[in-house]
Amino acid sequence: MLSTGSCLCGDVKYEVEGPLRPVVYCHCEQCRKTSGHHVAASSAPRDKVKISGELRWYRSSNTARRGFCPTCGGNLFWDGPGGNMSIMAGTLDDTNDLPAMGHIFVADKAGYVEICDGLPQAAQDDATITTKVL
Ligand SMILES: [Zn+2]
Ligand SMILES: [Zn+2]
Repeated sequence: MLSTGSCLCGDVKYEVEGPLRPVVYCHCEQCRKTSGHHVAASSAPRDKVKISGELRWYRSSNTARRGFCPTCGGNLFWDGPGGNMSIMAGTLDDTNDLPAMGHIFVADKAGYVEICDGLPQAAQDDATITTKVL
C-alpha cells in the first residue's frame, strides 16, 4: 500500500509505504495555534515516510517539531518522541479508507467545538487512542 500527499501549492510532496494509522483529532493548544482549528492526524513509522521538496521544520516544543511548507504555509507533519511521525490527514491525496478513532487533549479544545461523533475522548494524551491500529 502506498499513500501520497502534498501541501496546498504542491512544493512539498510525500509518500508513505504501508498502512496509515486511523485519524486522531488533537485539540491541544499547539495544534490549534498552528492550524487555526484542531488537527486531524494520521501517522506512520518515520522511516516509511519519504518527503520531497523544501519542507521546513519549526521546533514547537522540547520534544517535537512541526513540518510545514514555507511557500504556502501548509501544515504537514508533527514529529515527536517514538518511532512514528504524525501526518496531517487533510494533506493526503486519498482519505476514503481512513477512519477516525478519537479525540485527545479535549481539555484544551476551543469553546465553539462540539464533539458529537461518538468517538472516544481523552482530556490529555491517551495511548489507547493514539496507538490504535486497524
Ligand atoms: Zn506548499
Ligand atoms: Zn495537538
